[in-house]
Order: sequence, then structure tokens, then C-alpha cells
Amino acid sequence: MSRTALRICPLCEATCGLTLTLDEGRVTGARGDRDDVFSKGFICPKGAAFPAVDADPDRLRGPLVRVDGELREASWEEAFDAVAAGIRPVVERHGPDAVGVVLGNPNVHTVAGALYPPVLIAGLGTRSLFTASTVDQMPKHVSSGLLFGDANAIPVPDLDRTDHLLLIGANPLESNGSLCTAPDFPGRLRALRARGGTLTVVDPRRTRTARLADRHIAVRPGTDALLLAAMASVLVEEHLVDLGDCAPHVQGIAELADA
Ligand code: SF4
Repeated sequence: MSRTALRICPLCEATCGLTLTLDEGRVTGARGDRDDVFSKGFICPKGAAFPAVDADPDRLRGPLVRVDGELREASWEEAFDAVAAGIRPVVERHGPDAVGVVLGNPNVHTVAGALYPPVLIAGLGTRSLFTASTVDQMPKHVSSGLLFGDANAIPVPDLDRTDHLLLIGANPLESNGSLCTAPDFPGRLRALRARGGTLTVVDPRRTRTARLADRHIAVRPGTDALLLAAMASVLVEEHLVDLGDCAPHVQGIAELADA
């Protein structure tokens, strides 16, 4: 007998609401949850693909161990023994950094997936850690760490109330607003324009988002820091800096002006 289950898509920070159809434990349907106050029915192709992923014959449903060059089904005990036998000599011979760990989005968006990797990584003692973040959002973590003292303090724009949105090197029409935690970015941009707001995109490429912008500034690759320095220079020279309520929390304005 089929039933419906309301879930949050675990695949990115946009956290879209999903309405799943479950048939005897199998996912047979996935659509956007129109009543979700945040995503209002929006999902991207990844969210819609859950039935196909669930039914994929290549999906791992248990541990596999390679024996004589072939992957064979194994018990968890056999799998953990194989892991220990494989990793220990590598660590003993080359040190813990010789073991690389790759984490993906679903690790971060499930409770078990978020709890277990830190313990494993600490146990391994490796610094060779790679994630989707190191591919597509590390500059954000670095700048947040330098600005706010916490690499995970990611400021997100208030898309539903902003009048002028400046996107630098971001292409949310492709990324679906993941890091902004903004499902239905196209709809939110349409709403911004409809209320008289403007969108400026800084990107060397004429991306889908850039094509939608009121203004596309196609900087040469590697010159975005110069553009930002020029903007800071105008703000300082034309006395446009107004820190308002942020003033007690901001340091280094004088040094910036000198620079
Ligand atoms: S935008 Fe992100 S949260 Fe929404 S359906 Fe796609 S992968 Fe899932």
C-alpha cells in the first residue's frame, strides 16, 4: 500500500520540502511540497530523482569487499576487517595524511552522516580532507573565518526583502541557491525584479544568472580583488561609508581607507 511522506531534501543547503510517495518501502514518487513555507513546491532535478536513485541497481545496499580484483558482497565484520587491513599498513608506512577522506553533501545533511565522520577523521589523524566545499565554496569559508572568526558563519542575503542584489562569482540558477539556503532562486530573483529591485552579476562568464541580470560585469579572471578594492576606494573617497548599528562590531576601517 502506498503512502505519502513529507521530508526535507538532504542533498543541499536549499533544504527544499519533498512530498515522497512510498510503496512498500520503495520511493516511487518525489515532488515539491507546495505547503512547505520555505520552498513552496520548488525542487531541482536532484530532488526529483529520488525514485530513480532508490531503484538504481548500482546503489550500494551493503558492504562490498574486493577479492581477486572483483567486488563481492560481504558482511560488515568482513568489511571492517578489510578496511583495517588496508589502511593500517598505509598509515604505518606513510603517515596518517596518506589517507584521504572525501565527504559529499549528503554527509553534511544527515544526523548520522554529520556525527560519524569527525570521529573517523580524528581517529585517522589525517589532514587530507576533501569535500564538496573545497571544490565550490572554500573562498566563502576563508573570508567568513577572516571576517567573523568562524569559517562556518556564512552570511546569507535576505533575498525576499533586498532591493539590490550583487552576486560575485555566483551562479545560483545552476547551483539552486544552495549556500544561500534559498530554494527557488529563479522565483526569488523574479520577485526581486517585480518589486523594482535590481540584480548585478560579476562573473567572467555570461552564465545563466548573468543573462538574467540588469547589469553583468565580466571581469577578467583573477581581477575580482581589484574590482572590490576599487569599490572600497569609491566608498571611502566619496564618504559613502555608513556603518550604522554595525559600527561597534567592525574593525580596520582606517587601515582599509589607508590601503
Ligand atoms: S535545490 Fe537542493 S534541496 Fe532543493 S531539491 Fe535540489 S538538491 Fe534538494
